[in-house]
Amino acid sequence: MRKLLNHTESKRLFTQSKKVIPGGVNSPVRAFKGIDQNPIMIESAMGSHLYDVDGNTYIDYVMSWGPLILGHSDQEIVETLKEAVSRGTSYGAPTELEFELAQLIVNAVPSIDKVRMVNSGTEAVMTAMRLARGYTARDKIIKIVGCYHGHSDSLLVDAGSGPATLATPGSPGVPASFAEETITVPFNDIAAINDSFEKYGEDIAALILEPIPANMGVILPQEGYLKSLRKICDKYNSLLIFDEVITGFRVAYGGAQEIYNVRPDITCLGKIIGGGLPVGAYGGKKEIMDYIAPDGPVYQAGTLSGNPLAMTAGTVTLKRLSEENTYQHLKEKTEYLVDNLKKIAENSGIKVNFNSITGLFTRFLSTDKLPTNYREAASADRELFNKFFLEMLNKGIYLAPSPFEAAFLSLAHEKDDLDRTIEVYREVINNMA
Ligand code: PLP
Repeated sequence: MRKLLNHTESKRLFTQSKKVIPGGVNSPVRAFKGIDQNPIMIESAMGSHLYDVDGNTYIDYVMSWGPLILGHSDQEIVETLKEAVSRGTSYGAPTELEFELAQLIVNAVPSIDKVRMVNSGTEAVMTAMRLARGYTARDKIIKIVGCYHGHSDSLLVDAGSGPATLATPGSPGVPASFAEETITVPFNDIAAINDSFEKYGEDIAALILEPIPANMGVILPQEGYLKSLRKICDKYNSLLIFDEVITGFRVAYGGAQEIYNVRPDITCLGKIIGGGLPVGAYGGKKEIMDYIAPDGPVYQAGTLSGNPLAMTAGTVTLKRLSEENTYQHLKEKTEYLVDNLKKIAENSGIKVNFNSITGLFTRFLSTDKLPTNYREAASADRELFNKFFLEMLNKGIYLAPSPFEAAFLSLAHEKDDLDRTIEVYREVINNMA
């Protein structure tokens, strides 16, 4: 079996961690289980680079799974946080910081009139579901096969990300009666959506999806798909929920809904809006958001929600992202990297398909064509991926340890980083060919 090189200290620490932390990790995909290796243990990070406990350096394309669009240890975030921490770490009472970040989000995201902060993407989506059910007085939801919305009970059904990587769709502990309220359909398949609405329309509280799925690898919505979803939800008075936990403030300042010009009723956010600190948020139309306690009957609360440190890091991040040409730069970096990787693949004889959009991309190894849904994405060659992943890692490129995750770019990735990545990719692909 191929091995990670020079990882003695990582291995020692991970073995110890496994004794006191389930699987040695606090989130399953970090364990490298899908690729049958021990993970590397991180010591520190700066800009586009990760440093492990064995003294290895990596160019990072995980970026904490999306939040770090400004890069690791961004100087302005670090300085502002130092100052903020000296004024207290949590008050459990309202602050101007919460207002400031909420205002930035409302100004940026076209469909959001009001927004509530929570502590994770899971919490944001879980509450958005409760709100949709409470508001519509209906129970069923439609979700898309391969979309991941965090680990709340009704949304683990046919989920992408970790459950797909570990081949554990669903989970013991989710009551069958909860899962029964979740209808799943393939992405980019309007006929399947129409069928489900025809069958259950009057009972469907909401249709939830990642408008650009990034948890079965990156998959792009086909022309008119999102607009058709908006129409059918309107027809049946069901809510359309966009989970923009990954795409929010990444693919554009106003998220995927800005690019595709479709307005969901509720949007879920997370990752980038906390600038690397724990955060989530859900927001939407005023009349729906007013249904949340204390103004409305649907209950949701949180001891650390709107935490001043998370609000501070999020506000710095969004202000920086709102500067002119930010997304143009990120787009150019993404295109430069992906175009070069594509050329290498084309000349190698190995079948590689790339899906990409500003700040995000996935290479699908050995798929017949560019995947448009989970079934096609899942046909990627896992063995080949494992080999590819390990070779890249051994040469200093840190990718997500799963064929079903996206690669994340940041504004801190310099041309040198991209060129080094292209060089390593060429070596690895040519060795594999
Ligand atoms: N929604 C999407 C689209 C995600 O990618 C994730 C996590 O990766 C979540 C929700 C859950 O967010 P969290 O991990 O912060 O709970």
